[in-house]
Amino acid sequence: MQTVILGSGAAGISAGYHLKQKNIDSVIFEKDADWGGLCGNFTIDGFRFDRFVHFTFATEEDIANHFANSVDLWEHPSISSNYYQGAWLKHPAQNNLSALPSETKVKIIMDFINRPQKNIEQIKDYAEWLKVQYGDYFAENFPFAYTRKYWGVEAKDLETKWVGSRMHSPDLTEVLRGAFEEQQQIFYYTSVMKYPKTGGFRSILNTSREGLNIQFNKKVIHIDPTAKLIVFADNSEIQYERLVSSLPLPEIVGMLPNVPESVIEATKQLKHTSGYQISLGFNKPDVAKHLWFYIYDEDIPPARIYSPSLKSPDNVPAGCSSLQAEVFWASHQPTPSKEKVLAQTMSKLLEMGLFEQKDIVVQDIRLEKYANIIFDHDIYKNRQIVLDYLTSLGILSIGRFGKWDYLWSHQAFKSGREACQ
Ligand SMILES: Cc1cc2nc3c(=O)[nH]c(=O)nc-3n(C[C@H](O)[C@H](O)[C@H](O)COP(=O)(O)OP(=O)(O)OC[C@H]3O[C@@H](n4cnc5c(N)ncnc54)[C@H](O)[C@@H]3O)c2cc1C
Repeated sequence: MQTVILGSGAAGISAGYHLKQKNIDSVIFEKDADWGGLCGNFTIDGFRFDRFVHFTFATEEDIANHFANSVDLWEHPSISSNYYQGAWLKHPAQNNLSALPSETKVKIIMDFINRPQKNIEQIKDYAEWLKVQYGDYFAENFPFAYTRKYWGVEAKDLETKWVGSRMHSPDLTEVLRGAFEEQQQIFYYTSVMKYPKTGGFRSILNTSREGLNIQFNKKVIHIDPTAKLIVFADNSEIQYERLVSSLPLPEIVGMLPNVPESVIEATKQLKHTSGYQISLGFNKPDVAKHLWFYIYDEDIPPARIYSPSLKSPDNVPAGCSSLQAEVFWASHQPTPSKEKVLAQTMSKLLEMGLFEQKDIVVQDIRLEKYANIIFDHDIYKNRQIVLDYLTSLGILSIGRFGKWDYLWSHQAFKSGREACQ
């Protein structure tokens, strides 16, 4: 019997690596045919695509160094853009209004000056937070729309603790300056975005995954914590001494016997987004103009588009370029039709003039069931009920979907390390 780790994403790999550092053997079981989880990638005709946009901006020095020692990294300045009703605005939009029509700028600035004044303790939801930060007009036309596209819910349905430093709160001088001319200053939460020179995003985990025992195509379907037994979809079984799981909470709860009603109810309330990755390869080098950009228009399905070839030329054949568009919805809503989303996205991107039909040599759409955790008003209560239950069964739950938190890859890596210390 040994330590069993479920999932070979950043969290599972980190757990295996940190156990190995302590001379403890483990085996990782992964349902997919390859490692990396959401940090992983797929290749079509020489075009490599990550599973959604990924850069590393690890803040903890030891983790940043560990990633940097695994692969050479490009360092891109964090310069991104926004697309809104035909205009391109440098990110963050509220600091770079110059490209907008005068009438829109006046409305945004007047509402910014007259924005509601409230202390953080008085703010009851994300909609109110946005209005206090940016004023009504900007909040309603930019982040309210983006929230529907990225989180699949209304801003009023989200709480605010997750925001942290993710969004820049401007002062009037910044807003006014940016309304006259595009600002050079970077207001993003990190000034540099790092990306592997070779092998796609998951290469940051190269050192950690070396020598790990990862068993692929092993989908867990049942766990008996009393017998310490795991059953796989191929009917095989294994016993464990210690169990570390990076599986999404709703998945693992569904695999356990005799789960109390209160835990089942809490699990049902956990909401997340799912997403489509629409991946496009082009037969010429200069299609992608932006490392990544956000789209606010709600008739254009993608919330965000980025360029794998600008992240690293290693992601495309010589002389080519690529884009990947991300379309999200809330898991409690019906899954939008793949065909419709693809057709609507392609027609809108052609209309935006991003490329021409004749440039496309690769076109792919695939679904990612778990993308982001939705921070609704009951998340902390429901999440705690589920986590307490797993702890009571001796299951160590790690990673973005095992902790049910807004974890970046370095934080998922950290959670794998913490579980194995
Ligand atoms: C849209 C988007 C953009 C992001 N951008 C960034 C970014 O720029 N920078 C950054 O640092 N982070 C980013 N992240 C976050 C990053 O992807 C995650 O923090 C990280 O990949 C989570 O790793 P994990 O191991 O916790 O989970 P996962 O990667 O999901 O790993 C879980 C693993 O468990 C496996 N599994 C699931 N069910 C079973 C089963 N039944 N049996 C066996 N195996 C199973 C899965 O196949 C998977 O390999 C982004 C995430 C999203 C959604």
